[in-house]
Amino acid sequence: MRRVSRAQPLPAVGRLLNEPGYARLKERYSHELVAVALREQLAAERATRAAGAEERLAQVEAKLRELVAPRLQRVINGTGVVLHTNLGRAPLSATARAAVAAVAGGYSNLELDLAGGKRGERAAHVKELLTRLTGAESALVVNNNAGAVLLALSALCKGREVIVSRGQQVEIGGSFRMPDVMRLSGARMVEVGTTNRTRAADYEEAVTARTAALLRVHTSNFLVTGFTESAPLVELAEVAHRHQLLLIDDLGSGALLEEAGEPSVRESVQLAAVSCFSGDKLLGGPQAGVLLGREELVRKLARHPLARALRADKLTLAALEGTLRDRLLDRELPVDRMLQQTPAELRRRAAWWTVKLGDREIRSRLLEAESAAGGGSRPGRGLPTVLLAIEGPASRLAEALRRGDPPVIARIDRDFCCIDPRTVLTGEDEPLFDAVERAFRTLPSS
Ligand SMILES: *Cc1c(COP(=O)(O)O)cnc(C)c1O
Repeated sequence: MRRVSRAQPLPAVGRLLNEPGYARLKERYSHELVAVALREQLAAERATRAAGAEERLAQVEAKLRELVAPRLQRVINGTGVVLHTNLGRAPLSATARAAVAAVAGGYSNLELDLAGGKRGERAAHVKELLTRLTGAESALVVNNNAGAVLLALSALCKGREVIVSRGQQVEIGGSFRMPDVMRLSGARMVEVGTTNRTRAADYEEAVTARTAALLRVHTSNFLVTGFTESAPLVELAEVAHRHQLLLIDDLGSGALLEEAGEPSVRESVQLAAVSCFSGDKLLGGPQAGVLLGREELVRKLARHPLARALRADKLTLAALEGTLRDRLLDRELPVDRMLQQTPAELRRRAAWWTVKLGDREIRSRLLEAESAAGGGSRPGRGLPTVLLAIEGPASRLAEALRRGDPPVIARIDRDFCCIDPRTVLTGEDEPLFDAVERAFRTLPSS
């Protein structure tokens, strides 16, 4: 291999592109892309040292592979956090995935009423499912629950006052803070009570002629314990009724099944004027914001310009419809299955993993710990689990696993690199064993 000395000028891009090595690359990648990668390579060489012809070609090829590699990819969730926001929250059910695939590659009746042949409403496809499942009169779906709250406050409370408890001034994460959303909507927030105690009477005393609504926000990602009191929804509904105000209820998770510690969607629908929740938390569907309420209020929401800006796309609506159909049929969704696994089941699976990894000469043990629902659901209620704890340098192993293909997201517990079987899906066992074995071969130096 001929080394180009530092002093020698680098070859021109145009000439190099006609050489056989680069011509071969152009068959797989576009001419433009090869030229871009080559220019970047030559710029790097100018800053450091000139590379040999073969080395340069290899570098350009590596750069091209990287450029077109998928970025958003499937990962194995070994963290035990079921609704992990950074990992995409709820894995979709088979029904939801099939529904997405069915409309993704073609046209659909997204806004067409097939029976009448007229323009239809895009929310219509999920509206009936949602009303049947929750008892609501009407429903609307937007991009996410943060958008749902923003829309409800903008469309129904702009320029007026909204009363909210100081104990419910929550930040959900990713800078979604209730006071900021309120400001953005143009509604004026009136805070009542204290961080740990708010009674219905506190709301009632704050009512003025300018009041539009009472807002309840489920404190979904934290627990205030000890000397606490919050007004039950039924009492807020009474205050709202007495003063002819709207009661808006941000449920957060939207647990359709009865869940201890989670507000019930059905109860909320009966008591509040508008209830909203996320599609990708305990409901187990895609990212979406579901708004439920009386017909005329939902129509008002749907007609607001923000509804257009926040509207859900056809893939989301397809996935949500599939999820709701599963719910209507009482089918177990992936999220339910993960949350309901017993410590005994988890121990059996982790124990089987230690045997399988042992066959590959990888030593591991079992550790009792807790998984979490995550995504701002069921705070403070850990789910007992049994972790697979891999023997070896914990943080370097976790890094190697994260950088693997497929990436595995582990957690560190008691100085072990651990995998929680709760969130490792069916069919991911063998890929996990392979990934762990590869991680040991590619351990980054400390
Ligand atoms: C999660 C959550 C939100 C935000 O919902 P997204 O669907 O993530 O936008 C809003 N309010 C509450 C109470 C929540 O728990």
